[in-house]
Amino acid sequence: MERRGSNLPRVGDYNQLLVLDLVRRSPNISRVELSQRTGLTAQTVSNICRRLVGAGLIEETGRKEADTGARRTVFQVVARGQYSVGLHIDPARMTLVLMNLAGEVEDHTSIATPTTDGPDDALEAIVDAVGDLVRRGGIPLPRVSGLGVSTPGPVMADSVVGPPNLRGWGVVRLREELENRMGLPVVLEKDTIAAATGELWAGGGALSDFAFIYLGTGIGAGIVLDGEVKRGSSDNLGEIGHLSGDPDGPRCPCGGRGCIAITCAPVHLVSAAVDAGTLPPVDLDDFLSVETALGRLCALADGGDQTAAAIVGKSASAIARVAGNLANILDLGTIVLGGPNWPALAGTYLRVIPSITASLLTVGEVHTVDVRGTTLGENGGAIGAASLVMSSVASARSDHLLLPR
Ligand SMILES: [Zn+2]
Repeated sequence: MERRGSNLPRVGDYNQLLVLDLVRRSPNISRVELSQRTGLTAQTVSNICRRLVGAGLIEETGRKEADTGARRTVFQVVARGQYSVGLHIDPARMTLVLMNLAGEVEDHTSIATPTTDGPDDALEAIVDAVGDLVRRGGIPLPRVSGLGVSTPGPVMADSVVGPPNLRGWGVVRLREELENRMGLPVVLEKDTIAAATGELWAGGGALSDFAFIYLGTGIGAGIVLDGEVKRGSSDNLGEIGHLSGDPDGPRCPCGGRGCIAITCAPVHLVSAAVDAGTLPPVDLDDFLSVETALGRLCALADGGDQTAAAIVGKSASAIARVAGNLANILDLGTIVLGGPNWPALAGTYLRVIPSITASLLTVGEVHTVDVRGTTLGENGGAIGAASLVMSSVASARSDHLLLPR
């Protein structure tokens, strides 16, 4: 669904974002097409285009012939006109990307998340890494529109609230701490929501209704409906960990059975494989060791090891069930799977999940459900985070609209 503009004066910034986002998604678009697709008058579109060209954010790329025979000027974004940095904080490592206005990742880096108690060392490391990335790219600071941070939840009013997987973090005013240290605007979002934003942005609007199931140290979902990322009442939407993926599964502290927070957690899969003798003993308190062991387990499963395939396959069935429920509740035609552990899990998950999820669809006669892997690749979390900044610069959300459409 495409956003419509407003020709009233107070919404100038919103209209500008709207036009910039459309030019980004539709290279070689003319003023007339921009006007048709936004509902803005030709005069308003003309003014906006002039401002955006002046700001170095879009450029004329030539002329194309319209149906009427008239030749019209067409535009595209200036990829190097604006940048954002994306940071994904994972208990094992922190990943950063430098993204341009066209959504291309120009550079990336990764550092081990400091394991010291509390966030101070991590904050220092983030500031250094962002500085290095921007310097290395030769980007003038005014061209960097901000830092997007994707963090394990929960989040509250720009703070991270004692993420269970980050030791000694307590309540960290992450946005404020980083803004003060760097002098750059910082956008903070829960990792699941950031990932959904990245997927939406990368897809250029082709996908407007989907659930993004995020497979990391924790498991959550991001939801996009009508082309908008949903955040919920406290920006913590998507806690799907206590949905059951197996009615006969083990009891969870929540009182349910077979909750995916337990049965699909990397530490659960790895410890099951260690108990079965498929993997050597692993330090289950060490996130990096568990991640590495999960990679080995999934590789064994892909290589035909029956025990490994059964362990990973069981978690896939559980996720498939939850995916089916999400598709039913939200009437979704697409489920996207991604997150830090996706590269390892993809083989088994794409073999197991699509058919199970499809079989659970209540409205299967009306539409199908497509289960697919993320298009974001291994830096997906950081790309999602960078997209948060770019989407606030370049894209229009309805909550930015001050007047009724
Ligand atoms: Zn539970």
